[in-house]
Amino acid sequence: SKENVQAFFKNNAFVLFTVAAVVVGIVLGFALRPYKMTYREVKYFSFPGELLMRMLQMLVLPLLVSSLITGMAALDSKASGKMGMRALIYYMTTTFIAVFTGIIVVLIIHPGKGSKAEFGKQQKIEQVSPADAFLDLIRNMFPPNLVQACTQQFKTKYGKRVVTVTMTVNETLFNSTNATQEVMEISREEVIPVPGQVNGVNALGLVVFSVCFGLIIGNMKEQGQVLRDFFDAMNEAIMRLVAIIMWYAPIGILFLIAGKIVEMDDLTQMGGQLGMYTITVIIGLLIHGVLILPTLYFVITRQNPFTFIAGILQALVTALGTSSSSATLPVTFKCLEENNKIDKRITRFVLPVGATINMDGTALYEALAAIFIAQVNNVEMNFGQILTISITATAASIGAAGIPQAGLVTMVIVLTSVGLPTDDITLIIAVDWFLDRLRTTTNVLGDSIGAGIVEFLSRHELRSKDVEMGNSVLEE
Ligand code: ASP
Repeated sequence: SKENVQAFFKNNAFVLFTVAAVVVGIVLGFALRPYKMTYREVKYFSFPGELLMRMLQMLVLPLLVSSLITGMAALDSKASGKMGMRALIYYMTTTFIAVFTGIIVVLIIHPGKGSKAEFGKQQKIEQVSPADAFLDLIRNMFPPNLVQACTQQFKTKYGKRVVTVTMTVNETLFNSTNATQEVMEISREEVIPVPGQVNGVNALGLVVFSVCFGLIIGNMKEQGQVLRDFFDAMNEAIMRLVAIIMWYAPIGILFLIAGKIVEMDDLTQMGGQLGMYTITVIIGLLIHGVLILPTLYFVITRQNPFTFIAGILQALVTALGTSSSSATLPVTFKCLEENNKIDKRITRFVLPVGATINMDGTALYEALAAIFIAQVNNVEMNFGQILTISITATAASIGAAGIPQAGLVTMVIVLTSVGLPTDDITLIIAVDWFLDRLRTTTNVLGDSIGAGIVEFLSRHELRSKDVEMGNSVLEE
């Protein structure tokens, strides 16, 4: 009936707008491609999209800190310990499954047939040792200066190498759009992804601090009340801001996608190995996102995974548009808490930590890409090397920040660990912007399903806490 249709549109307005934005963005992007815009014109054109990125990123820092602190303070240490364990086990298991899927798919499809010469010119990338990268990861967990952790990028040895890769990305862009030297310098300043950091925020360090801080004030009885109230109110206020920004999101996503399609390289090079590679990655991500994760969710919770996924559609589309799981975080919160009714004590812990360290799509991608590069070089990987790749790909996905193309950058560790040429990363840069969006979407899906599973597994602790606090008890 007419009322039903109206109700449907009213309830799903956001999702419908956002999905429409993706479609219009793609169409508009392809329609504008023949005009061969310059780099600067593309920048002007995608400006509304850039604004969305900035708005979302603006919220990440206060949201991450306030949600983690209130989340940890709301549970006693025993309950949060159990919940934390479950979340970590979920992160590790699904990341390993993802890596495994990536490896199987790339071994079976074998997209790297042929020779490297087919790719054309390569660029130099500085070496980095896995040990350096690992130490950087640990270092970032303990920011020496909290204020700096919120604002500044620290330049570690590893961080410097990242600049080189970013340069290569922009040089590709530079060649295809006649940008001036000056513009290239600007864009170089813009993106310097350093592992564990979100656009100048050391997310990993803030996660560690906030978890500890939240646990402590949770145990402080009356003395801690003022802090608990403060962060609680702050969290609530930020979520209200998210609600406002979400009205703008479809416009931003439209321009982000259209802008990207306008500036991308010609698809002609997508024939041959690179095309096969792209298809292999897509198949791997689909198996993980559409088959494995939903099955896992169903097996554990006995609920329909696709109803769950329908509730987070808006977050998935935002991930596709922004190619940043951190920037998507506010939307993920909103979807899970409001549509899927996930307990806030769960989302507040599982989502920020997940967005920082749990990246299934990235892990799958890194393992797959490393083996692809071996195939292109005609190197046969033995079992030991494949094992090394699975471990380093997992580490690299933990270390990758939730920002665009961070995974491409941490891949250096994976390649170095098995002696593959790191310069070969430049072979796959042409398609990375696209694959990045898909793996980011998988990352956000993994975090969300994780929240659903951890909530289900923690239902007893949550209920007994409710009873203790005199809250209305959740229905089973
Ligand atoms: N862009 C991805 C994310 O934000 C990370 C990656 O490059 O794999 O989740």
